[in-house]
Amino acid sequence: MNDLEQARRTFRDELIESGLLVGLGGNGLYAQSADFALIVAGITRLVETTGADGGSSGLSPRRLRFPPVFPRQAFEKTDYLASFPHLTGAVSTFTGDNEEHARMLAGREAGQSWDSWLTPAETMLVPAACHPVYATLAGVLPPGGELIEVAGHCFRHEPAVDPARMQAFQMHEFVRVGSPVQAQDHRTEWIDRAEALLTSLGLDAEAVGANDPFFGRAGRLLASNQRRQNLKTELVVRLYGELDDGTAVASCNYHQDHFGTAFGITLTDGDVAHSACVGFGLERIALALLRTHGLDASAWPTSVRALLSL
Ligand code: ZN
Repeated sequence: MNDLEQARRTFRDELIESGLLVGLGGNGLYAQSADFALIVAGITRLVETTGADGGSSGLSPRRLRFPPVFPRQAFEKTDYLASFPHLTGAVSTFTGDNEEHARMLAGREAGQSWDSWLTPAETMLVPAACHPVYATLAGVLPPGGELIEVAGHCFRHEPAVDPARMQAFQMHEFVRVGSPVQAQDHRTEWIDRAEALLTSLGLDAEAVGANDPFFGRAGRLLASNQRRQNLKTELVVRLYGELDDGTAVASCNYHQDHFGTAFGITLTDGDVAHSACVGFGLERIALALLRTHGLDASAWPTSVRALLSL
């Protein structure tokens, strides 16, 4: 085991031993203690308050909260399967009759896998908090576009020892859909705003150009295009010192017309809408705080506790 793996394992063990997280028996799946959930709730409120003025958009964010699953039809339109098949989660269920049910249970009794008895339930696990919002915007946007504050649970199939890489986690986002300039301005101004928010919490956050973890050979080209066109900026905190390049706790993304085209979202003049989002990884920010200020939140700096209403 190298030093980085050891550091991640040690941090995970500390979180579990302190009772902040409870391991569920698989890598990257945890229950949160009341203390951990309080930190997450504090971060949520701070993010909401920070973005409530709508920035330069002049709009009040419209709040939407999403369930952890969304329709397969909307998932298809995001084209997530093309870029991130390895992170995808699909819901399946049993739709057979009594006889098939009995055969499934008999097979299970004999130690056989029962997965083949399940069929797709037409729902997918949400991979990014903003993905379910675009289907709700199909059609012509109001003048000035839309600014939406979204939050929800996300799933990505990447089981890991690192507690900062959970399979199920919460994201809080501000999504701007409108003209290319409106989308770009949203992304750009949130790089500074997100950095200021994290800095106010005593986190040593750095803005860096980044790319999504696209799959396979074609993905390498997509990743380099994303970097070349400067479409993604991550706010990174070094949870493990110099052992790695740091952990992204927030990201500012310009999607160009990807979602506008896929979901038929247009401006009043008929042009395809562009979109951008800033997403805060709530558990990751909580972990960065625990790493920076210690596992006992009652001993954190007064200013940080005040910002989080702890
Ligand atoms: Zn997003």
